[in-house]
Amino acid sequence: MADSPAMGTHQRRTTRQIRVGNVAVGGGAPISVQSMTTTKTADVEGTLQQIYALAAAGCDIVRCTCNEQEAAEGLAAIVPRSPIPIVADIHHQYKMALAALEAGVHGLRLNPGNIRKPEHIKAVASEARDRGVPIRIGVNGGSLDPSLYEKHGGLTAEAMVESAMQELAYFDEVGFDQVKISVKASNVPLMVEAYRMMSEATDVPLHLGVTEAGPLPGGLVKATAGIATLLLEGIGDTIRYSLTADPVEEARAGRLLLESLGLRERKNVDLIACPSCGRAEIDVIDVANRAQEAFADREIPLQIAVMGCVVNGPGEAREADLGIAAGNKRGHLFVKGRNVAVVPESEMVEALVDWATYINEHGVEAALARVDTALAEREAAKDRNALLAEKGDDANDAGTKIAEIRRKVASPGGDARD
Ligand code: SF4
Repeated sequence: MADSPAMGTHQRRTTRQIRVGNVAVGGGAPISVQSMTTTKTADVEGTLQQIYALAAAGCDIVRCTCNEQEAAEGLAAIVPRSPIPIVADIHHQYKMALAALEAGVHGLRLNPGNIRKPEHIKAVASEARDRGVPIRIGVNGGSLDPSLYEKHGGLTAEAMVESAMQELAYFDEVGFDQVKISVKASNVPLMVEAYRMMSEATDVPLHLGVTEAGPLPGGLVKATAGIATLLLEGIGDTIRYSLTADPVEEARAGRLLLESLGLRERKNVDLIACPSCGRAEIDVIDVANRAQEAFADREIPLQIAVMGCVVNGPGEAREADLGIAAGNKRGHLFVKGRNVAVVPESEMVEALVDWATYINEHGVEAALARVDTALAEREAAKDRNALLAEKGDDANDAGTKIAEIRRKVASPGGDARD
């Protein structure tokens, strides 16, 4: 594996590999994205609908709660129809784990904080071993075994790691090693520390997450802070964003994070846009949002730029595969920094979609070959010069403002001190 971060890859810790259904986890496998359904698992059709939406958004493995017999029975009907592997989430009742295994799930998640009897843990591990089904030891800072909480004087990284190691030892006793581990907390520095310790202590693949991260945008920031920090250190084999939002947002966020770190191949458009400024010729936010919507369901793995003005836009986004910059009520399209066409401002988004589709099918060279780039460059230069003549180099007219500030401060009574 290439190790240069510039190439979008990172030196990853070596972990052993397990398989959750047809998805490999650890041992150099692509980092997978997970999410969890919010439907009642007994509602087979509703749950499958959500699973299909999650899979379309980039989710590789999905977890469903198995909290009652009806949920286990639902899983028996869901598993054969799901496009991605199903993990049953188990708390408190070890019998629900056995029922989920009977239903044919591809993985289990056990919470060592609330299934604590060694004979119960070993019964589940033995059954999982015989069926070749992996288990995630899902330690959660909020539901840690009370005795560990007491021993460590509160919730600490050491307490979470000890909880996972204890469970691992029970699994060991029955010869079960198809395991992954998570040590989630809602406190980001604590979670990061716990995963670092865990990664030193074992080569078991790690499932990363910041638990109960909360609603957007705070939840997204917290989860990204924790997960990305660890991924950039080479820690983590599979990830889940725990957001108080539609789970599709979790899957999208997970996928986008991995793509932006260069850890998964880009599947959809990577839309970049300038932040806009006084020079903008269009409502950049509106055009970028419309472009995002237009590309949402298209599998076009290109970087596409929306830039507010033709003065700086094409240059600043010259690395993008395709972009558009506004100028004098017209949109200037550029491919790899080269102007290719001019379209009315109202057709900017449509033009981006057309060009992106063409480039995706035929490549950049073919796209450039079909137009007169010299003509497009002349048109862009015309609008660029017109904008410069109108607004000058300084779109915010900072020179005049600074002169005015100086004049006011220097005027009699202009001393800022009272
Ligand atoms: S100078 Fe142009 S491209 Fe750059 S932020 Fe302002 S509007 Fe956007």
